[in-house]
Amino acid sequence: MTVLSEFSLIQHYFEQLSTQRDDVLLGIGDDCALLQCPAQHVIAVSIDTLVENIHFFADVDPEHLGYKSLAVGLSDLAAMGAQPAWFTLALTLPEVNENWLKGFSQGLAKLAKKQNIQLVGGDTTRGPLTISIQVHGFVPAEKALRRSGAQVGDMIYVTGTLGDAGAALQLQLQKWNNVALNVEDKSYLRQRLEQPTPRLEIGQELAGLASAAIDISDGLLADLGHILDKSGVGARLDLAKLPLSLAMSKVDRKTAERFALQSGDDYELCFTVPPQYFSEIEQRFKDQCTLIGTITDDQGIYFIDDNDALIALKGTGYDHFPV
Ligand SMILES: [Mg+2]
Repeated sequence: MTVLSEFSLIQHYFEQLSTQRDDVLLGIGDDCALLQCPAQHVIAVSIDTLVENIHFFADVDPEHLGYKSLAVGLSDLAAMGAQPAWFTLALTLPEVNENWLKGFSQGLAKLAKKQNIQLVGGDTTRGPLTISIQVHGFVPAEKALRRSGAQVGDMIYVTGTLGDAGAALQLQLQKWNNVALNVEDKSYLRQRLEQPTPRLEIGQELAGLASAAIDISDGLLADLGHILDKSGVGARLDLAKLPLSLAMSKVDRKTAERFALQSGDDYELCFTVPPQYFSEIEQRFKDQCTLIGTITDDQGIYFIDDNDALIALKGTGYDHFPV
């Protein structure tokens, strides 16, 4: 196959992604795209690269992969309180496989349409399967949700449920199993791993209310840890309040908690709320998020266990701490 026909073929599959937004003055087809950012807003930008056998299994459904490649970027926009606008795609392919391209572009298009984000540029090259997506969104500058704004006395919330994607990954690697999980539970967990929901709506609504936010890509402890580091504060978490899915609530509590605290890929948001907005958050977002703890002037993270005792986090595990 000649280079030109390969290019036309790839272009054909990605045409469905170029639905027109009014703020795209010039889209694909010139040296650069020309994009218009609304007045009083700043552009939020983030890039992620997914490499076969490192970030995804070689046999993953290409439609799910297309969806997830964009979802992880959208999750970063959600964590800033930004509204999605445009993305660029760099695709490295070992070969031009029409079935793969069709599935991948369909998965990508499904989420792009839903979130009104337009593909405005791309590049393709030959090599080991690698997907890079850069997302662009916008947010009023003073409302952007940074990691650095948490203050002592703020409440800590997370959206959705935690630990599902991590459990699915361990199931797939055959490193963990649990007899309590039936076929439907396992398929639910796998869907959470392969097609996470970026929390864009709540992210945008939290802009101006939350004092800090991050998306949970590496696990609650690691990602909350970034907020604590950037904000110069500590945290106390109530283990009993960690939100679990129906599937993970069938697993023994300690194991489920470990997944919820330490495993990544859930793409939920963790955010902190100052006292003056507690009641507003509780009223408006009661069904979408869970209060799991408070920001303190402790060093690092402590847990409150079932007996109201404090437990200190040590390394990647946690030990009972005498109080
Ligand atoms: Mg992130």
